[in-house]
Amino acid sequence: MKLSQLPHWLRDTMLRMFPHRAPTGIVRVGNPGRNSPVLVTGNFTLTIRRLINVLSGHDAWLLCANSKGINVWCAAGGGHLTHHDVISVVRTSRIGEQVDHRELVLPQLCATGVERRKIAEVTGWSARWGPARLEDLPGFLGRRLHVIKGERFVRFPLWERMEMAFMWSWGLVAVAGLVAWAIDSWAVGLCAVAVIVSIVGGIFAALPWLVVTGPRRWLTFGGFAAGGFGVGVGVLAALGSATSAHLWLAAGAASVATAVLSTDLAGTTPWYGSYINTFHNEAHVDLVEERCTGAAECVQVCPRDVLAMNGYRRKVEVKRPEQCIQCGACIVQCPEDALRFRYDDGRIVEAATIRRTRMNMVGRRTVELPEQ
Ligand code: SF4
Repeated sequence: MKLSQLPHWLRDTMLRMFPHRAPTGIVRVGNPGRNSPVLVTGNFTLTIRRLINVLSGHDAWLLCANSKGINVWCAAGGGHLTHHDVISVVRTSRIGEQVDHRELVLPQLCATGVERRKIAEVTGWSARWGPARLEDLPGFLGRRLHVIKGERFVRFPLWERMEMAFMWSWGLVAVAGLVAWAIDSWAVGLCAVAVIVSIVGGIFAALPWLVVTGPRRWLTFGGFAAGGFGVGVGVLAALGSATSAHLWLAAGAASVATAVLSTDLAGTTPWYGSYINTFHNEAHVDLVEERCTGAAECVQVCPRDVLAMNGYRRKVEVKRPEQCIQCGACIVQCPEDALRFRYDDGRIVEAATIRRTRMNMVGRRTVELPEQ
């Protein structure tokens, strides 16, 4: 990131949790012509700015569908970006008058809510899946719109986790710091800030290794709450202020509030059932082999490399079930309804139900299970 972009990064990151709408319609990147690719995205200002940045030196049409000012993955999972929005922008923008071809490139991460086939059925435009991350778009364009395997896999690297930690903590830091300073002293304010920064930073740094399901999630939750309290007390001791009741109170309150708010993001808060269903009953993606025709659309949209095509058998296989995050993209896109969720207790949720449900803020679908 260039230094001149730092103010933009700060503002965009701080406001990232709020919808920030750009106009829908066509955005020109470079000098696009009649054969230039048409890349679909949402109308989240930050995404559009990053896309324009990353595509510098390329010519393309960006088609911004109405994602209600939310990023593509969250919008599609939450029902704010659907194939209806893509169909609508194809029609209202009149992109067909700008190009000679009829092919859209959809961001892979919209597969949880945008049904590719519906777009073709209604508009006559074909649609192919682009890479999961916008940083891979230049390579994708250079290979004549072909995604290579690694570009489908979604990681959450440390830098991005720290960016998220900053996004989640700055508001808490400001409020807790000011309140603590007002009721006692700058030392208490500093303590509250140290607690919050250390808990949120620690949580996001450790996210890949956190225990988020089962009884052991208590260890995750308790560990962060205790760690935060310890940091607060440590700061107080270093400042020679560990005798005031206010200070202890501030450290404890900040610790608990931050732990509750932050660990909940990973679905770990023990008293909030933010799992895929309301029964705390684990779901696994389940393949009905007889229905599978080997279209392999699921393989193209899976962000965790769970599924693989067996070319010899012309069937898809669930290769790495332990990596599944239950996003449901494979189920939504399968043209034969060959995929579904199966729960530990044997109950099954079919594709039609998954297509109707939406994800909550922590990326989990709340599915009412059928009666046993
Ligand atoms: S539900 Fe699991 S297997 Fe299906 S696309 Fe999501 S991560 Fe991949």
